[in-house]
Amino acid sequence: MIAGLRNKISKLESNGHYERIPVISLKITNECSLKCLHCSSDSGLPLHNELTLGEIQNLIDELAKIGVKRITLSGGEPTIRKDFWEILRYLDDAGIQVSLFTNGFLLDRNFVRRLNDFGVSGVRISVDGGVAKTHDEIRGVKGSFSKAMKAVKLCRESELMVLIVSVIMKNNISEIRKIIQLAEKNRVPAYFRRFHPVGRGLKNIGLMPSPEELKSVTSIITAYYGEELIGEMIKYLKLVGGWCYIGDRMCIEPDGNIALCPSLPLIMGNIRESSINEVWKRIKNSELCDMIRKRNIAGKCGSCPHIRICGGGCRADAYGLTGDILSEDPLCWNSPSEASLPILNALIMASAAFYEASYIDLKRGWC
Ligand code: SF4
Ligand code: SF4
Repeated sequence: MIAGLRNKISKLESNGHYERIPVISLKITNECSLKCLHCSSDSGLPLHNELTLGEIQNLIDELAKIGVKRITLSGGEPTIRKDFWEILRYLDDAGIQVSLFTNGFLLDRNFVRRLNDFGVSGVRISVDGGVAKTHDEIRGVKGSFSKAMKAVKLCRESELMVLIVSVIMKNNISEIRKIIQLAEKNRVPAYFRRFHPVGRGLKNIGLMPSPEELKSVTSIITAYYGEELIGEMIKYLKLVGGWCYIGDRMCIEPDGNIALCPSLPLIMGNIRESSINEVWKRIKNSELCDMIRKRNIAGKCGSCPHIRICGGGCRADAYGLTGDILSEDPLCWNSPSEASLPILNALIMASAAFYEASYIDLKRGWC
């Protein structure tokens, strides 16, 4: 994997520029079978005005026209939509590769075979505990752990690129090592995400780990990634100017709203009122996005030597916790004068994209 990554980074270096095609997350429904305490979409029931199949097909045509080659499908739980396979077929016909974010609940052998037939590039299955009790409590449904692990096993057996995804929160921070062991036992990579103060994450804000708690798992996670992978990640992050890719992405919500990021409910338009191209131009020309792209971040981030690697942390967390999208990252434990490894911020957020990068084009992905 590392050799593949290295090759792609050298290609990027020799190109001398980073191509700006938007990274797309498409949430096709708000409906979900689980009730996760951290759910940033506050999923459960479908919205009353979700995009129809026809609207999604038009959207896919528009995305293809602006050069989009890859999207992440999520929700809610995307596999719950009755027309899920039609959406996948349409994406496939448009030449757009899919990375799927799922709770794994519906993934039986036949489902996984069909995903494989469509050439899905990656399947990210949420596993929020090292043991069933923790996962089931966080996800609100008994038996969800065993379904998720069964889905992981089926995907791996069918040679789909599968990742275990865990949100770090107070309820599972003591189980990070166990989650890694679970991933290793199943021979799949694990990656970790932040708990974002949005949706049910905001309602359950008491479960968000403190900067000190995040710091306490740094050594476990960095030891798991290993020096070589971290070295490549740093090289890549320096090349693209740090992680947070607001201004280079669009998150399309189930009702057609377009947000700057799945964890940041700042809406830039709706596909029922504007074309994707119009909204994309709006984002590219937005002063706010420009400030974020230039890492014009306040507080300690503004003077931190690591900003070109970590990108100034997470803007969704800055916005959710302080109301100011340009404020310093409220969850960073780093003191800018320290020459420590401050980049767990970036590593936590970027690792999934790096794992997938060994299979697909190197491109910033999902955090
Ligand atoms: S770092 Fe935070 S704000 Fe930036 S793209 Fe990732 S989740 Fe969104
Ligand atoms: S390491 Fe911390 S203080 Fe420095 S830029 Fe990143 S988030 Fe800000």
